Amino acid sequence: MTDLASMTLPELTGLITSLQEKPYRARQIYEWIHKKLAVSFEEMTNIPGTLKKALSERAFIGVPDICALQVSAADGTRKYLFRFPDGECAESVWMEYRHGHTVCISSQVGCRMGCRFCASTLLGLTRNLTAGEMLGQIYGIQRDTGIRVSNVVVMGTGEPLDNYDNLVRFIRMLSDQDGLNISERNITVSTCGLAPQIRRLKDEKLMINLALSLHAPNDELRKSLMPIARRYALSEVLDALTDYYSEGRRRLTFEYSLIRGVNDTDRCAGELCALLKGLNCLVNLIPVNPVRETGFCETSRADAAAFKKKLENHGIHVTIRREMGRDIDGACGQLRKRHADGAV
Ligand code: SAH
Repeated sequence: MTDLASMTLPELTGLITSLQEKPYRARQIYEWIHKKLAVSFEEMTNIPGTLKKALSERAFIGVPDICALQVSAADGTRKYLFRFPDGECAESVWMEYRHGHTVCISSQVGCRMGCRFCASTLLGLTRNLTAGEMLGQIYGIQRDTGIRVSNVVVMGTGEPLDNYDNLVRFIRMLSDQDGLNISERNITVSTCGLAPQIRRLKDEKLMINLALSLHAPNDELRKSLMPIARRYALSEVLDALTDYYSEGRRRLTFEYSLIRGVNDTDRCAGELCALLKGLNCLVNLIPVNPVRETGFCETSRADAAAFKKKLENHGIHVTIRREMGRDIDGACGQLRKRHADGAV
Protein backbone atom coordinates (compact mmCIF):
# COMPACT_ATOMS: atom_id res chain seq x y z
CA MET A 1 0.00 0.00 0.00
CA THR A 2 1.23 3.48 -0.91
CA ASP A 3 1.04 6.37 1.53
CA LEU A 4 -0.55 9.31 -0.30
CA ALA A 5 0.18 11.78 2.52
CA SER A 6 3.94 11.48 1.94
CA MET A 7 3.76 11.96 -1.86
CA THR A 8 4.62 15.24 -3.53
CA LEU A 9 2.24 16.58 -6.18
CA PRO A 10 4.41 15.34 -9.09
CA GLU A 11 4.58 11.87 -7.50
CA LEU A 12 0.84 11.82 -6.95
CA THR A 13 0.29 12.93 -10.55
CA GLY A 14 2.39 9.96 -11.67
CA LEU A 15 0.20 7.59 -9.66
CA ILE A 16 -3.07 9.12 -10.86
CA THR A 17 -2.10 9.07 -14.53
CA SER A 18 -0.96 5.45 -14.17
CA LEU A 19 -4.60 4.75 -13.27
CA GLN A 20 -5.65 6.34 -16.60
CA GLU A 21 -7.05 9.41 -14.84
CA LYS A 22 -6.56 13.06 -15.76
CA PRO A 23 -3.65 14.84 -14.02
CA TYR A 24 -5.93 17.53 -12.51
CA ARG A 25 -7.38 14.84 -10.27
CA ALA A 26 -3.99 14.60 -8.57
CA ARG A 27 -4.08 18.27 -7.67
CA GLN A 28 -7.60 17.90 -6.30
CA ILE A 29 -6.58 14.98 -4.13
CA TYR A 30 -3.39 16.76 -3.03
CA GLU A 31 -5.49 19.73 -1.93
CA TRP A 32 -7.89 17.49 -0.06
CA ILE A 33 -5.04 16.02 1.95
CA HIS A 34 -2.76 19.03 2.39
CA LYS A 35 -5.09 22.05 2.30
CA LYS A 36 -8.49 20.81 3.38
CA LEU A 37 -6.82 18.32 5.72
CA ALA A 38 -8.99 15.35 4.76
CA VAL A 39 -8.19 12.07 6.50
CA SER A 40 -10.38 9.77 4.40
CA PHE A 41 -11.41 9.24 0.78
CA GLU A 42 -15.09 9.69 1.73
CA GLU A 43 -14.48 13.39 2.42
CA MET A 44 -13.27 13.99 -1.14
CA THR A 45 -16.65 15.02 -2.54
CA ASN A 46 -15.46 16.13 -5.98
CA ILE A 47 -13.58 12.88 -6.73
CA PRO A 48 -15.49 10.18 -8.65
CA GLY A 49 -16.36 7.05 -6.70
CA THR A 50 -14.52 4.80 -9.16
CA LEU A 51 -11.25 6.65 -8.58
CA LYS A 52 -11.73 6.64 -4.81
CA LYS A 53 -12.30 2.88 -4.95
CA ALA A 54 -9.23 2.31 -7.13
CA LEU A 55 -7.16 4.42 -4.78
CA SER A 56 -8.39 2.80 -1.59
CA GLU A 57 -7.33 -0.58 -2.98
CA ARG A 58 -3.76 0.61 -3.50
CA ALA A 59 -3.15 3.46 -1.13
CA PHE A 60 -3.95 5.01 2.23
CA ILE A 61 -3.65 8.46 3.78
CA GLY A 62 -0.89 7.93 6.33
CA VAL A 63 -1.76 10.61 8.85
CA PRO A 64 -2.18 9.88 12.57
CA ASP A 65 -5.28 9.97 14.80
CA ILE A 66 -5.43 11.94 18.01
CA CYS A 67 -5.67 9.44 20.84
CA ALA A 68 -5.23 11.75 23.82
CA LEU A 69 -5.14 15.45 24.56
CA GLN A 70 -3.99 17.30 27.66
CA VAL A 71 -4.51 21.03 28.10
CA SER A 72 -2.32 23.05 30.46
CA ALA A 73 -4.31 24.97 33.06
CA ALA A 74 -1.35 27.31 33.44
CA ASP A 75 -0.90 28.56 29.87
CA GLY A 76 -3.36 26.80 27.53
CA THR A 77 -0.61 24.70 25.92
CA ARG A 78 -2.07 21.54 24.39
CA LYS A 79 -0.22 18.25 24.25
CA TYR A 80 -1.49 15.68 21.79
CA LEU A 81 -0.75 11.98 21.69
CA PHE A 82 -0.98 10.79 18.10
CA ARG A 83 -1.32 7.21 16.93
CA PHE A 84 0.14 6.32 13.53
CA PRO A 85 -1.31 3.75 11.14
CA ASP A 86 0.90 0.94 12.55
CA GLY A 87 -0.16 1.68 16.15
CA GLU A 88 3.04 3.49 17.20
CA CYS A 89 2.53 6.77 19.05
CA ALA A 90 4.28 10.13 19.43
CA GLU A 91 3.51 13.44 21.06
CA SER A 92 3.16 16.97 19.69
CA VAL A 93 2.60 20.29 21.43
CA TRP A 94 0.56 23.36 20.46
CA MET A 95 1.55 26.67 22.01
CA GLU A 96 0.01 30.09 21.80
CA TYR A 97 2.47 32.95 21.61
CA ARG A 98 1.87 36.65 21.02
CA HIS A 99 3.04 36.31 17.45
CA GLY A 100 1.00 33.25 16.51
CA HIS A 101 0.43 29.58 17.04
CA THR A 102 3.36 27.22 17.10
CA VAL A 103 3.28 23.47 16.79
CA CYS A 104 6.19 21.40 18.07
CA ILE A 105 6.26 18.04 16.30
CA SER A 106 8.07 14.76 16.79
CA SER A 107 10.30 13.44 14.02
CA GLN A 108 10.83 9.88 15.28
CA VAL A 109 9.15 7.37 17.55
CA GLY A 110 11.72 7.42 20.34
CA CYS A 111 15.28 8.60 19.82
CA ARG A 112 18.71 6.98 19.76
CA MET A 113 20.82 10.00 20.70
CA GLY A 114 20.87 9.22 24.43
CA CYS A 115 21.11 12.75 25.86
CA ARG A 116 21.26 12.24 29.61
CA PHE A 117 18.73 14.91 30.56
CA CYS A 118 16.00 13.95 28.08
CA ALA A 119 12.98 11.68 28.56
CA SER A 120 12.44 11.07 24.84
CA THR A 121 15.49 8.86 24.48
CA LEU A 122 14.97 6.61 27.52
CA LEU A 123 13.59 3.68 25.50
CA GLY A 124 15.75 4.19 22.41
CA LEU A 125 14.56 4.54 18.82
CA THR A 126 11.59 2.57 17.50
CA ARG A 127 11.39 4.03 14.01
CA ASN A 128 11.53 7.14 11.85
CA LEU A 129 8.35 9.05 11.08
CA THR A 130 7.42 9.53 7.43
CA ALA A 131 6.85 12.98 5.91
CA GLY A 132 3.09 12.36 6.00
CA GLU A 133 3.26 11.40 9.67
CA MET A 134 5.12 14.62 10.49
CA LEU A 135 2.69 16.72 8.42
CA GLY A 136 -0.23 14.81 9.92
CA GLN A 137 0.63 16.02 13.43
CA ILE A 138 0.24 19.62 12.26
CA TYR A 139 -2.87 18.86 10.22
CA GLY A 140 -4.49 16.99 13.11
CA ILE A 141 -3.86 19.89 15.47
CA GLN A 142 -5.11 22.50 13.02
CA ARG A 143 -8.25 20.45 12.45
CA ASP A 144 -8.77 20.08 16.18
CA THR A 145 -8.26 23.74 17.14
CA GLY A 146 -9.65 25.31 13.96
CA ILE A 147 -6.80 27.85 14.22
CA ARG A 148 -4.15 28.32 11.56
CA VAL A 149 -0.70 27.14 12.58
CA SER A 150 1.84 29.86 11.79
CA ASN A 151 5.12 28.37 13.04
CA VAL A 152 6.48 24.87 13.22
CA VAL A 153 9.36 23.69 15.36
CA VAL A 154 10.82 20.22 14.98
CA MET A 155 11.77 19.91 18.64
CA GLY A 156 9.60 17.08 19.88
CA THR A 157 10.76 13.50 20.24
CA GLY A 158 13.54 12.39 17.92
CA GLU A 159 16.61 13.77 16.22
CA PRO A 160 15.33 15.30 12.96
CA LEU A 161 18.68 15.06 11.15
CA ASP A 162 18.79 11.33 11.99
CA ASN A 163 15.69 11.08 9.74
CA TYR A 164 17.12 13.29 7.04
CA ASP A 165 15.28 12.34 3.83
CA ASN A 166 11.85 12.32 5.43
CA LEU A 167 12.61 15.63 7.15
CA VAL A 168 13.58 17.40 3.92
CA ARG A 169 10.53 16.00 2.13
CA PHE A 170 8.36 17.15 5.04
CA ILE A 171 9.76 20.70 4.92
CA ARG A 172 9.25 20.98 1.17
CA MET A 173 5.66 19.78 1.45
CA LEU A 174 4.87 21.98 4.45
CA SER A 175 6.04 25.10 2.64
CA ASP A 176 4.38 24.07 -0.64
CA GLN A 177 1.85 26.56 -2.03
CA ASP A 178 -0.50 23.67 -2.70
CA GLY A 179 -0.36 22.69 0.97
CA LEU A 180 -0.37 24.67 4.23
CA ASN A 181 2.15 27.04 2.65
CA ILE A 182 4.05 27.74 5.86
CA SER A 183 7.07 29.86 5.04
CA GLU A 184 10.44 28.15 5.45
CA ARG A 185 11.44 31.07 7.65
CA ASN A 186 8.75 30.02 10.10
CA ILE A 187 10.13 26.52 10.41
CA THR A 188 12.84 25.68 12.95
CA VAL A 189 14.69 22.40 13.19
CA SER A 190 16.62 21.65 16.36
CA THR A 191 19.55 19.25 16.24
CA CYS A 192 21.95 17.79 18.76
CA GLY A 193 24.69 18.38 16.18
CA LEU A 194 25.04 15.85 13.36
CA ALA A 195 27.73 17.75 11.47
CA PRO A 196 27.61 15.88 8.12
CA GLN A 197 23.82 16.29 7.88
CA ILE A 198 24.09 20.01 8.70
CA ARG A 199 26.48 20.29 5.76
CA ARG A 200 24.11 18.36 3.53
CA LEU A 201 21.22 20.54 4.57
CA LYS A 202 23.03 23.60 3.35
CA ASP A 203 22.90 22.26 -0.21
CA GLU A 204 19.13 21.82 -0.03
CA LYS A 205 18.90 25.64 -0.11
CA LEU A 206 16.08 25.76 2.39
CA MET A 207 15.56 28.95 4.37
CA ILE A 208 14.65 27.16 7.59
CA ASN A 209 16.18 28.03 10.94
CA LEU A 210 18.51 25.54 12.53
CA ALA A 211 18.99 25.50 16.29
CA LEU A 212 21.86 23.65 17.90
CA SER A 213 21.43 21.94 21.24
CA LEU A 214 24.70 23.07 22.76
CA HIS A 215 24.28 22.54 26.53
CA ALA A 216 28.01 22.77 27.31
CA PRO A 217 30.82 25.15 26.45
CA ASN A 218 33.49 22.47 25.91
CA ASP A 219 33.77 18.98 24.45
CA GLU A 220 34.56 17.30 27.73
CA LEU A 221 31.41 18.41 29.52
CA ARG A 222 29.33 18.01 26.38
CA LYS A 223 30.50 14.42 25.99
CA SER A 224 29.34 13.66 29.52
CA LEU A 225 25.83 14.95 28.73
CA MET A 226 25.38 14.08 25.06
CA PRO A 227 26.87 10.89 23.56
CA ILE A 228 26.78 12.46 20.06
CA ALA A 229 29.54 14.84 21.21
CA ARG A 230 31.92 11.86 21.20
CA ARG A 231 31.37 11.55 17.46
CA TYR A 232 31.45 15.22 16.42
CA ALA A 233 33.63 17.75 18.18
CA LEU A 234 32.18 21.18 18.90
CA SER A 235 34.60 22.82 16.49
CA GLU A 236 33.33 20.58 13.68
CA VAL A 237 29.67 21.25 14.48
CA LEU A 238 30.20 25.01 14.79
CA ASP A 239 32.05 25.06 11.45
CA ALA A 240 29.17 23.26 9.76
CA LEU A 241 26.65 25.65 11.31
CA THR A 242 28.58 28.75 10.37
CA ASP A 243 28.74 27.47 6.80
CA TYR A 244 25.02 26.72 6.85
CA TYR A 245 24.33 30.34 7.75
CA SER A 246 26.90 31.86 5.44
CA GLU A 247 24.51 32.49 2.56
CA GLY A 248 22.34 35.37 3.70
CA ARG A 249 20.74 33.48 6.51
CA ARG A 250 20.04 34.89 9.90
CA ARG A 251 21.84 34.42 13.16
CA LEU A 252 22.71 31.13 14.80
CA THR A 253 20.53 29.87 17.61
CA PHE A 254 21.88 27.79 20.46
CA GLU A 255 19.83 26.00 23.06
CA TYR A 256 21.44 25.65 26.44
CA SER A 257 19.55 23.78 29.17
CA LEU A 258 20.76 24.96 32.55
CA ILE A 259 21.43 22.07 34.91
CA ARG A 260 22.20 22.97 38.49
CA GLY A 261 25.83 22.49 39.39
CA VAL A 262 26.63 20.84 36.06
CA ASN A 263 26.75 23.45 33.28
CA ASP A 264 25.51 26.62 35.01
CA THR A 265 28.67 27.74 36.81
CA ASP A 266 30.33 31.08 36.37
CA ARG A 267 33.23 29.25 34.76
CA CYS A 268 30.91 27.66 32.18
CA ALA A 269 29.42 31.08 31.39
CA GLY A 270 32.94 32.43 30.83
CA GLU A 271 33.89 29.53 28.57
CA LEU A 272 30.67 29.96 26.62
CA CYS A 273 31.46 33.64 26.02
CA ALA A 274 34.86 32.66 24.65
CA LEU A 275 33.40 29.90 22.47
CA LEU A 276 30.77 32.16 20.90
CA LYS A 277 32.96 35.23 20.56
CA GLY A 278 32.45 36.96 17.24
CA LEU A 279 29.44 34.85 16.20
CA ASN A 280 26.12 36.50 15.35
CA CYS A 281 24.04 34.35 17.63
CA LEU A 282 21.21 33.97 20.10
CA VAL A 283 21.49 31.76 23.15
CA ASN A 284 18.24 30.33 24.40
CA LEU A 285 18.62 29.34 28.05
CA ILE A 286 16.20 26.67 29.23
CA PRO A 287 16.14 25.81 32.94
CA VAL A 288 16.29 22.03 32.59
CA ASN A 289 12.85 20.48 32.86
CA PRO A 290 12.38 17.77 35.43
CA VAL A 291 12.56 14.23 34.10
CA ARG A 292 12.09 11.64 36.84
CA GLU A 293 14.81 9.28 35.65
CA THR A 294 17.63 11.77 35.11
CA GLY A 295 18.11 13.16 38.60
CA PHE A 296 19.10 16.56 37.22
CA CYS A 297 17.83 19.73 38.88
CA GLU A 298 17.17 23.04 37.25
CA THR A 299 19.24 26.12 37.95
CA SER A 300 17.58 28.65 40.26
CA ARG A 301 16.05 31.75 38.71
CA ALA A 302 18.71 33.94 40.28
CA ASP A 303 21.57 31.81 38.96
CA ALA A 304 19.98 31.68 35.51
CA ALA A 305 19.69 35.47 35.53
CA ALA A 306 23.35 35.79 36.54
CA PHE A 307 24.39 33.39 33.75
CA LYS A 308 22.38 35.45 31.27
CA LYS A 309 23.91 38.70 32.48
CA LYS A 310 27.42 37.37 32.06
CA LEU A 311 26.76 36.43 28.44
CA GLU A 312 25.07 39.77 27.76
CA ASN A 313 28.07 41.60 29.14
CA HIS A 314 30.02 39.97 26.33
CA GLY A 315 27.55 41.23 23.72
CA ILE A 316 25.71 37.92 23.28
CA HIS A 317 21.93 37.98 22.75
CA VAL A 318 20.24 35.79 25.34
CA THR A 319 16.68 34.78 26.14
CA ILE A 320 15.48 32.61 28.98
CA ARG A 321 12.84 30.42 27.44
CA ARG A 322 9.41 30.68 28.96
CA GLU A 323 8.62 27.06 29.56
CA MET A 324 5.16 26.28 28.38
CA GLY A 325 3.19 23.17 29.25
CA ARG A 326 5.38 21.91 32.07
CA ASP A 327 2.35 20.94 34.14
CA ILE A 328 1.37 18.46 31.43
CA ASP A 329 4.94 17.19 30.82
CA GLY A 330 4.81 18.97 27.49
CA ALA A 331 7.99 21.05 27.85
CA CYS A 332 11.38 20.38 26.21
CA GLY A 333 12.75 16.97 26.98
CA GLN A 334 9.58 15.81 28.72
CA LEU A 335 7.95 14.14 25.73
CA ARG A 336 8.23 10.40 25.82
CA LYS A 337 7.07 7.26 24.21
CA ARG A 338 3.60 6.48 25.41
CA HIS A 339 0.90 4.21 24.24
CA ALA A 340 -2.78 4.74 23.95
CA ASP A 341 -3.29 3.45 27.48
CA GLY A 342 -1.00 6.17 28.82
CA ALA A 343 1.74 3.80 30.03
CA VAL A 344 5.34 4.77 29.37
N1 SAH B 1 16.95 16.03 18.97
C1 SAH B 1 16.79 17.43 18.77
C2 SAH B 1 15.42 17.97 19.04
C3 SAH B 1 14.64 17.47 20.21
S1 SAH B 1 14.86 18.09 21.83
C4 SAH B 1 17.83 18.18 19.58
O1 SAH B 1 18.57 17.55 20.30
O2 SAH B 1 17.93 19.39 19.43
C5 SAH B 1 14.49 19.80 21.87
C6 SAH B 1 15.37 20.54 22.87
O3 SAH B 1 15.06 20.21 24.23
C7 SAH B 1 16.83 20.21 22.69
O4 SAH B 1 17.59 21.39 22.81
C8 SAH B 1 17.09 19.30 23.87
O5 SAH B 1 18.44 19.21 24.18
C9 SAH B 1 16.27 19.97 24.92
N2 SAH B 1 15.99 19.15 26.09
C10 SAH B 1 15.96 17.81 26.20
N3 SAH B 1 15.66 17.44 27.46
C11 SAH B 1 15.48 18.57 28.17
C12 SAH B 1 15.11 18.84 29.50
N4 SAH B 1 14.87 17.87 30.37
N5 SAH B 1 14.99 20.14 29.86
C13 SAH B 1 15.20 21.14 28.99
N6 SAH B 1 15.54 20.93 27.70
C14 SAH B 1 15.68 19.67 27.30
